[in-house]
Amino acid sequence: MKYLFSLFVFLSINFQVLNAQQSPEDFLGYEPGEQFSRHADVINYFEHVAENSSLVQYHTYGETYERRALTYAIISSEENLNNLESIRKNHLKNAGLLNGQNNTNNQKAIVWLSYNVHGNEASSTEAAMVTLYSLITENTDLLENSVVIIDPSVNPDGRDRYVNWYNQVKATPFNTAQAATEHHEPWPGGRPNHYLFDLNRDWAWATQKETRQRLKIYNQWMPHIHVDFHEQGINDPYYFAPAAEPFHEVITPFQREFQTKIGKNNAAYFDEEGWLFFTKERFDLLYPSYGDTYPTYLGAIGMTFEQAGHGRAGLGIETDEGEILTLKDRIAHHFTTGISTIEVASQNIQELNNEFKKFFSNNKDFEYQSYALSGNTDKIAAVKQLLDRHEIKYGYAENQRIKGYNYSSWQNETFNATEETLVVSSNQPKGKMVKVLFEPDTKLVDSLTYDITAWSIPYAYGLEAIASPRSISTANNSTEHKVENTAYPSGAGYISKWNSMQDARFLAALLKEDIRVRFSEVPFESEGRQFDRGSLIITKSDNLTTENFDEKVVEIANTYNRQLLTANSSFAGSGPDFGSPDVKLVNPERIAVLKGEDISSLNYGEIWHFFEQDLNYPVTRIDTDYFERINLSQFDVLIMPEGYYKNVFTEAILKDVTEWIRGGGKLIAIGEAAGYFSGRDDFQLNENEVKKPEDSTKTGNLVPYNQRERESIKNLITGSIVKTKVDNTHPMAFGYGDSYFSLKLNSDSYSLLEDGYNVAYIQDPEIVSGFAGSEAKKNLKNSVVFGEERLGSGSIIYLVDNPLFRSFWENGKLFFVNSLFFLNN
Ligand SMILES: [Zn+2]
Repeated sequence: MKYLFSLFVFLSINFQVLNAQQSPEDFLGYEPGEQFSRHADVINYFEHVAENSSLVQYHTYGETYERRALTYAIISSEENLNNLESIRKNHLKNAGLLNGQNNTNNQKAIVWLSYNVHGNEASSTEAAMVTLYSLITENTDLLENSVVIIDPSVNPDGRDRYVNWYNQVKATPFNTAQAATEHHEPWPGGRPNHYLFDLNRDWAWATQKETRQRLKIYNQWMPHIHVDFHEQGINDPYYFAPAAEPFHEVITPFQREFQTKIGKNNAAYFDEEGWLFFTKERFDLLYPSYGDTYPTYLGAIGMTFEQAGHGRAGLGIETDEGEILTLKDRIAHHFTTGISTIEVASQNIQELNNEFKKFFSNNKDFEYQSYALSGNTDKIAAVKQLLDRHEIKYGYAENQRIKGYNYSSWQNETFNATEETLVVSSNQPKGKMVKVLFEPDTKLVDSLTYDITAWSIPYAYGLEAIASPRSISTANNSTEHKVENTAYPSGAGYISKWNSMQDARFLAALLKEDIRVRFSEVPFESEGRQFDRGSLIITKSDNLTTENFDEKVVEIANTYNRQLLTANSSFAGSGPDFGSPDVKLVNPERIAVLKGEDISSLNYGEIWHFFEQDLNYPVTRIDTDYFERINLSQFDVLIMPEGYYKNVFTEAILKDVTEWIRGGGKLIAIGEAAGYFSGRDDFQLNENEVKKPEDSTKTGNLVPYNQRERESIKNLITGSIVKTKVDNTHPMAFGYGDSYFSLKLNSDSYSLLEDGYNVAYIQDPEIVSGFAGSEAKKNLKNSVVFGEERLGSGSIIYLVDNPLFRSFWENGKLFFVNSLFFLNN
């Protein structure tokens, strides 16, 4: 094999003689691996190279929540860069993503390398600089056939969180003892972004700013190959493709084979150096929101490469086997797989282009050709926004009858479509992604997977849906309705419906403007119009002291596109009048959430993000380490994210919190936090009776050793969708129908509350999609999913399933909002 490079050889040669651009070492003043580089220094280096090299273009594609630049470099031969736009357009035409004929004489391999999506897996950004420099110096021959795109840091906020911390605490010289402080990153760690979201779980849902901006550039380029560089535990040497089962069924034989081809090339270099690695284990290709699966479902060879290291390794650490793992080693390995991947790509341009074309043109044989969605217009709008982010096409059904699989009844039925029914067809270039995101149930060839096994969009967004085996004809007439309300000062007030997150944002905006709002606990009729439970009533009599009351309400309603219905009188035709005790004032709640050690940073981040970026309502964040000194009476609502509360909630704190609830406080406990109250005095929640398997100590454990992993999955639920019954007369469920599809993330199960309200619950478990082990499924029988228990004049709200999970389960969010504003008023 041609030996293409040696990190150590090229680092020691001074290329300044030949090129104006400096090596990372010359520019930064230290050899790569001697220090961690700050994001700003990385950007400066890339800018320097782009200014001095005719082989590099460098662009900013956005910024993070903390205002760090998101960037990418395009590296190719001078000739290719001169024809870059035509190369790009021809590539998109090849896939049918752009109209017109492609000029097949000018095909290239497009390779996109993404570094450091997990901020504390910090060797990869260093490797990005080394890779850039190598490509424009000793590996220019690889650029004749390839366009290489490098995103040096997908998650700069997380990376700088890690790097700045490490630089503050590291010993000089660095200390390799695992016990040393520099190997123990503090909560929440540098892995996630600003809002503590895992960006490697966000590609498909695009809830984060970084993802949304990246997708725009990704869609412009649609690479043949995408590599996501990661790090794993310090004792696992290196992982590269081919990936592990399960593979999603849309993945083509070519994609599998090509992963193996790259893996074998990597392996040859690793063998030559005597570096250990593993393949085909642990990292599967199913959940669509990763940096390997998402590109794979868009035709790329999507791969995860994992180096030993992670937030523990620092500049050097002793592994359990007694080896010293250094940052220099980690950079060398990531550099090697990056260049090896480009090498394979540049040797196979014809095959890559032919197969890429096939991937996008070959979407006619799926079981379902079209997905038709109907329901609340805000929810439809939210789906459209998501499709726009992925540049997936859709249309509207005309009035017609559609036959197909109904997502609610699980039967083939006929459905009357209207011109407001959204239709997404899998018979389009991105049809495979459509199938992955919309199909009712993902086919699992293996239930041992790294992540959730169900995510179907109609369930996540709470829409009625039909999967049709036929292609449904569509029209493009957009049905956007822009509401224009006008003030009605002579009336008694305004009424607005309550069904969606957009209604919730409207309420939050009114409360922030100190406008008093009521909601009805029972249905009513006003001037011939029917209103459901939860409808908002904004009366003049409640807001006599508000200046320009009518104008303000109308302006906010117009901003949020809410239709206000005016009422001449507070007198209801049937049901309660506006002054009735059943029409309650919404309290402008003062809300706090716990964060810090022992709290799930992911769930805390979801809550924080929800308040700031979704609902737009203030929340006070309190650290667990000073929580005991806080006077809770200044808050109406306290949220306990998932977490391990045994240390956080001492007996004294529990006593204070319980008293605060009795005095009128509302405590919202999510997932594991709900579990903390299970079996405690004063609280009703109890673990569901577990049918213990036969006591294995008596009969002997007869599960063979090599089946131990398989056996244990009987008790697992790995993110599956379960149908729940809903008591929609309870304020927590206003805006919902009588059933709800919940995303169950684990097998935790609690009995129905004896003396509380079971708002969403499971009687006979029906798993709609995803994997649930046989024992775990049985154990869901008669369990509570969302419940309220009254305690004195306050409440504890149990959200056993996390409705804010990764911010993508759109239809769960209103349960959370209802819990904040509609209880105990
Ligand atoms: Zn990672």
